[in-house]
Amino acid sequence: MIVAKPMIRLTCLCFLAMPALAAWEAGAAKVDITPTEPVPLAGYGGKTRMSSRVLHPIWLKALALRDETGATSVLVTADLVGLSTKMVDIIAGRARARHGIPRERLILNYSHNHSCPVTEDVLWLYYDLTPGERAARDRYTARLYGQYEQVIGEAIGNLAPAELWFEQGLAGFAVNRRRSRPGGRKLGGQVDHDVPVIAVRSGGALRAVAFGYSCHTTALSGETVNGDYAGFAQLEIERSHPGTTALFVQNCGGDANPLPRIMRSNDPPAIQLTEMYGRILAEAVRQVLERPMKPLAGPLRPAYGQTEIFFQKGPTAAELDRELAGARDMRKREIQHLLDVYRRHGKLPDRYHYPVQVWRFGDSLTFIALTGETVADYCLRFKAAYGWDHTWVAGYNNDLLSYVPSLRVLREGDYEGTTGMAEYGHPAPYTFSVEEQIAQQVDELVARTRP
Ligand SMILES: [Zn+2]
Repeated sequence: MIVAKPMIRLTCLCFLAMPALAAWEAGAAKVDITPTEPVPLAGYGGKTRMSSRVLHPIWLKALALRDETGATSVLVTADLVGLSTKMVDIIAGRARARHGIPRERLILNYSHNHSCPVTEDVLWLYYDLTPGERAARDRYTARLYGQYEQVIGEAIGNLAPAELWFEQGLAGFAVNRRRSRPGGRKLGGQVDHDVPVIAVRSGGALRAVAFGYSCHTTALSGETVNGDYAGFAQLEIERSHPGTTALFVQNCGGDANPLPRIMRSNDPPAIQLTEMYGRILAEAVRQVLERPMKPLAGPLRPAYGQTEIFFQKGPTAAELDRELAGARDMRKREIQHLLDVYRRHGKLPDRYHYPVQVWRFGDSLTFIALTGETVADYCLRFKAAYGWDHTWVAGYNNDLLSYVPSLRVLREGDYEGTTGMAEYGHPAPYTFSVEEQIAQQVDELVARTRP
């Protein structure tokens, strides 16, 4: 008697509290983008790494979502190091022309994989390629554009009634890498260990799962093609949930590495360690999937905007000329690039047009998509601002413009704050307004998508 009453009350409350499921359609697809010939590998400067074998395939994956208004949005994830503005324009242009997907309804995320082929003009100053290597890069890139078009089309073609659910887990192997460098012990060491998960289910069966993490995919650095820890995590989720497409979303991992790591990455111990990081992440996702998750409401309200972020004053042409005499390798290419900008434009650029996207799922989830190598502070700031339990902040969308430091990281300096800008072809570090410029744009787009 004493037990029965509360049980009845609890049952009734659960029933009453259960929100009506939104009328979603969802479709997932994946396309194998493993190179079919030896190619130069991306992500690390210095000596060219030609691929010698494939550890496991790498993928483009797409999740198409159609809400109750009939509007279709597509999230594409990629086991790639990044995209350039040119690549984004081509991919988004084709998505609009061939599939009717407007720019604000297309999110292009990449895992920042450092064991994938070099593509187009992404991180172009890193690589000193021979004509033969450049030809291999161009053949791969040309095929990749068709594969983006294919995966988006197939995801839309697979649209079928579905339920969407959201919840978050935790995984702890991301370490703030700035602290691991000489002199870095004193730095802030912010990190975001959240593992946000969107589950797509139909009739109780898991059809797709999008999951995120904030950490560089740099556990491996050898001559094998693979998806690093994110590739292993996706493999493990798809193996343990047959028929499911697992999509990895890179969040704000600009200042995080999987640590410890073994850099001689053709060695079995390094591969085993990377696989273990992948299994840890897959386990975090599995635990989220096994617990109750919150249903995602519709409609999906998208917003796309650009804000201007500014560079500090760059070097003069005379200063660059003086430095060029003693410069070698990548530094020489960086200086030559800036001198070329002077020759063509008479000055160095003072700003960059920085894209920001927001997808609002009814009143249940705000998905913020930032551009480039955003550091952990951005994830933490926007989740604090818009709700820890219903905000997902993804970095590494659109073009891989550079590291995107917060004010704190910019003030601290070092690679992600200041010294990493030249390798992206930029004249100088960002000004101290960078975080606020981005935050204002996010706030404007969040307000625009409010129900
Ligand atoms: Zn990076």
